[in-house]
Amino acid sequence: MGTIQIYDAKRNGVLTLDRIEKSDAEWKRLLTEQQYQITTRKGTEAPGSCPFDEVHKPGVFRCVRCHTDLFRSSTKFESGTGWPSFYEPISPLNVIEQPDASLGMVRTEVLCARCGSHLGHVFDDGPPPTGKRYCMNGFALEFVREAKL
Ligand SMILES: [Zn+2]
Repeated sequence: MGTIQIYDAKRNGVLTLDRIEKSDAEWKRLLTEQQYQITTRKGTEAPGSCPFDEVHKPGVFRCVRCHTDLFRSSTKFESGTGWPSFYEPISPLNVIEQPDASLGMVRTEVLCARCGSHLGHVFDDGPPPTGKRYCMNGFALEFVREAKL
C-alpha cells in the first residue's frame, strides 16, 4: 500500500492519497468486461470505438478505475488514429511511463500512477508544445465537465 502524491484539478493542488491496490478478481467484479480487459489485462480498444474520441468540451479525463485526474480536454488533439490523444498529462505526478516490449515493438506504456491501470502508450510524434502523443484507450477514461469538477 502506501501513499502517493497526486495533482487534483478541483483543488488545483497536490494531495497525498492512499494508493489503490485491488486483485485482478476485484477489478473484474467492479468494471465492465471491456474496461477490465483494457485497464487490467492491458488490452487495446478498437480504434474509433470510444465516443470520447469526439469530446472536446472543457473538462478533465479521469481514470475509470480510481477517478484520478489524468488529462485536460484543452490538451486533446485530432490525431486521426481513432483513439483519444493528448499532448501532455494533467501532471507528471499522475501517470507512470515505463518501457513496454510486448508485440515485438519497443513502446512506452502509460499507467495511472494511483491504481496502476493500463491507459495506453505515449509516442514522440505529437504536436507542439510537447511533441508527445499520449494515445489513450477511451474505455480506460471517464470525462468530467469543467463545471462538475
Ligand atoms: Zn487509476
